[in-house]
Amino acid sequence: MDKYNLNEKSKIRSVFKIAGPITLGVGVILLIIAMVDFFGVFNGNGGFPTLFFLGFIGIPLIGIGAAMTQFAYMGKIARYTAGQMAPVAKDVTNYMLDGTKDSISGIVSSVANEIKAPSATPSKCPSCGETTNPGAVFCDHCGRPLFKVCPECNTKNNPDARFCQKCGKPMGIY
Ligand SMILES: [Zn+2]
Ligand SMILES: [Zn+2]
Repeated sequence: MDKYNLNEKSKIRSVFKIAGPITLGVGVILLIIAMVDFFGVFNGNGGFPTLFFLGFIGIPLIGIGAAMTQFAYMGKIARYTAGQMAPVAKDVTNYMLDGTKDSISGIVSSVANEIKAPSATPSKCPSCGETTNPGAVFCDHCGRPLFKVCPECNTKNNPDARFCQKCGKPMGIY
């Protein structure tokens, strides 16, 4: 299946390699004809620029031809530069994200830290009074939960809280 797709793609590429420049060339010629006609009319004899419509065919043809040429030849370049990095799409994504990656991961890790370890400092278990480890969810002495997370706003509440201290919503069973 993959091989078939690859063959199909390279077949399309080889067609584009010829058709692309031809389309591009035809587009340019049509555009030139249209321009010459247009300015010829302007400079001289009056009347309508009868061949001007060719420009409206030529411009899209240039675009299509350029795209086809780019597809045919850029594929080769991209594959060459990508080298052994197999999924090119992933590579491109990584490249695009490269600038923002650090800031995003910074935000993500700080959010994750806030959820995982709301209190960085050691605190006392509300059930048994033992000192708990920072980031602990359950007391390592009595096994009781050290806090309850609000299902509405994710705020940390006391384990026996019935309503969220921040948003006032019922805390549910957990
Ligand atoms: Zn405890
Ligand atoms: Zn809440």
